[in-house]
Amino acid sequence: MNYTDNPVESAGRAAGICYDKEEKEDYASFIKGIVGRGHESVIEHVTFTFRVEDVSRALTHQLVRHRLASYSQRSQRYVDEGEFGYVIPPSVLESREAEEKFKEVMDYTLERYNELKAMNVPKEDARFVLPNACHTRIVVTMNARSLRNFLKLRMEKHAQWEIRQLAQKMYDLAYAAAPPLFEDMQALRDTGRES
Ligand SMILES: Cc1cc2nc3c(=O)[nH]c(=O)nc-3n(C[C@H](O)[C@H](O)[C@H](O)COP(=O)(O)OP(=O)(O)OC[C@H]3O[C@@H](n4cnc5c(N)ncnc54)[C@H](O)[C@@H]3O)c2cc1C
Repeated sequence: MNYTDNPVESAGRAAGICYDKEEKEDYASFIKGIVGRGHESVIEHVTFTFRVEDVSRALTHQLVRHRLASYSQRSQRYVDEGEFGYVIPPSVLESREAEEKFKEVMDYTLERYNELKAMNVPKEDARFVLPNACHTRIVVTMNARSLRNFLKLRMEKHAQWEIRQLAQKMYDLAYAAAPPLFEDMQALRDTGRES
């Protein structure tokens, strides 16, 4: 993960412009107070960039619905998926029979994908047979306000398990970098419920 240098001070200095008070001894309390009162635009000056790997396309379909963010995703038009990896949901792994059936479909799909390419079907068309489970990688940049909205929706207990796990990991990284911007969400991260 990359993020704006000195995130709390950066947001604090931006907020200080509003009141002609950029120099502060305690940026953390200042930012917590101001964000707590709903003046959230000041944390838009802080951004976080995450590189996300080996998640499913089912996850990234959900991720990119968050419009206030920037994305760059591995392309299935240009990149060959002839040896694709995939995510197996935990519910499938609970049963050996379900796991076998799941893997059968993945193997079958992989073979047909490679056969289509061998018949000169371009990658951008052969990819139509690829599964939602297919591994992908994506870089996402969000400002802190948008990230908080993402975390609120995707760490919540109704969120789908894979994106919820991702949101919890993103929370842990963002919290470690800028505790005052995220510490009010710790209970949500741990229980899926707002405190
Ligand atoms: C548990 C769960 C289930 C879901 N199920 C479905 C589903 O079945 N089908 C489905 O299609 N989607 C579903 N979604 C996706 C959801 O509807 C949102 O598209 C997604 O969570 C992005 O949230 P967002 O719009 O707040 O984020 P962003 O797009 O990042 O927007 C951030 C904020 O900006 C504001 N904003 C952005 N664009 C506009 C706009 N055009 N007009 C007004 N305000 C705007 C809003 O305040 C918004 O909260 C689900 C999401 C969750 C968490």
